[in-house]
Amino acid sequence: MKSIFLGPPGCGKGTQAARLQERYGLVQISTGQMLREEVAKGSDLGRKVGGIMESGKLVPDELIIAMIGHRISGEDCQGGFILDGFPRTTSQAAALYSMLGNKRIVLDHVVHFSVDEDAMVRRITGRFSCAECGAGYHDEYQTPSVYGECDHCGGKEFQRRADDNEETVRARLEDYHTQTAPLIDFYTEIGLLRTIDGMAPIDDVTAELAEMFHRGSEQVEPAAIDESSNEIPATR
Ligand code: AMP
Repeated sequence: MKSIFLGPPGCGKGTQAARLQERYGLVQISTGQMLREEVAKGSDLGRKVGGIMESGKLVPDELIIAMIGHRISGEDCQGGFILDGFPRTTSQAAALYSMLGNKRIVLDHVVHFSVDEDAMVRRITGRFSCAECGAGYHDEYQTPSVYGECDHCGGKEFQRRADDNEETVRARLEDYHTQTAPLIDFYTEIGLLRTIDGMAPIDDVTAELAEMFHRGSEQVEPAAIDESSNEIPATR
């Protein structure tokens, strides 16, 4: 199963991708997480993107496209993957279309998480994770069962993302509207888009996605496009 999860920051796509990864043995490819790891390592890429990420802006397309091209070629991705946070611009979508077409990889679904944006801001600014194992929590909706102790690994250190503050979140939402939302029309046109209610309880969203995955795919054969083009092809 090869899917894209599309939606504004905080819509729950990362949480759901992590759950489905475990259940179906898929690889969750989170560009945000990959970039945060580069920043933490202090790599060349990390040094280039750290400041951009803190401001909530998108990092340049060419860096992300190269990173994804390398990642989806990995042996572990051959059984299936969920793209979480990519593509986010029309150039990225065009590059992905071309990449998948050339590798004869067929996308099964593009899942669009529909959400209320003010609620999104509350969701994002309240989230934190275990510094040890990365398990996700929230100040209001999902606190550890024992205060100060991770349910999964017993870790006692927690962390918050530097870009999970209100000002940055609003900037990320604005970028989502101008740069990412147009992809919804594109994936609708080629018959891949499935919209789900991202405001539903976490378990209900997982159940709906699981059903969608079980129902299988209405597969669409991707066509190769001009790699130099920045335009998403209008039709298959
Ligand atoms: P996320 O964890 O998906 O919210 O991403 C965190 C940050 O990483 C974003 O605000 C961007 O700065 C950067 N980022 C992640 N994915 C992309 C992408 N596909 N294109 C550009 N920037 C990205």
